[in-house]
Amino acid sequence: MAFELPKLPYAYDALEPNIDARTMEIHYTKHHNGYTTKLNAAIEGTPLANKGIKEILANLDMANKAVRNNGGGFYNHSLFWEIMGPNAGGAATGELAAAINSAFGSFDSFKEKFSNAAGTVFGSGWAWLCVHKGGKVEICATPNQDNPLMPKVGCGGHPILGLDVWEHAYYLNYQNRRPDYITSFFNVINWSKVAEYYAANK
Ligand code: MN
Repeated sequence: MAFELPKLPYAYDALEPNIDARTMEIHYTKHHNGYTTKLNAAIEGTPLANKGIKEILANLDMANKAVRNNGGGFYNHSLFWEIMGPNAGGAATGELAAAINSAFGSFDSFKEKFSNAAGTVFGSGWAWLCVHKGGKVEICATPNQDNPLMPKVGCGGHPILGLDVWEHAYYLNYQNRRPDYITSFFNVINWSKVAEYYAANK
């Protein structure tokens, strides 16, 4: 079974003005679609063709650049669209808020540390909030399309929130102002969806 580009859960302009419609459309129809197509080409006719994406990533041969880059790109963007939404933002609630407070002291402290992780990725990559078995949350960052599900990458937890800091994610609207993009990202985080990922993977 080939992987399919997941449906975007909102319209291209739904996250305006934080994420502009043109960036969203190009990001989804060109970049994410490209990773999906190239992932399928890379696994076609191999034993990986019958496996789920998380199984592929967890058992990845890191030297297999085609699957590493495109499998990562497929998974990372699929998560990225889900953890954003219109009429979102604010702060985490419930058991996720408690885990964040436990790990970072406060939500504001988490926000500062996550923003710093995203802001200091050199070149292209992602910042993550991950959960470890037992419920502890941790921030990490990864280069390119790597993610912490891959062997010995990042903090090794399960990603529940990810921020794409590739220039293709923000350059049209923000140019070189990555910090402004990161600030705006917090206006569109769908914390109820992040909480679902937390509960499912803690
Ligand atoms: Mn991207």
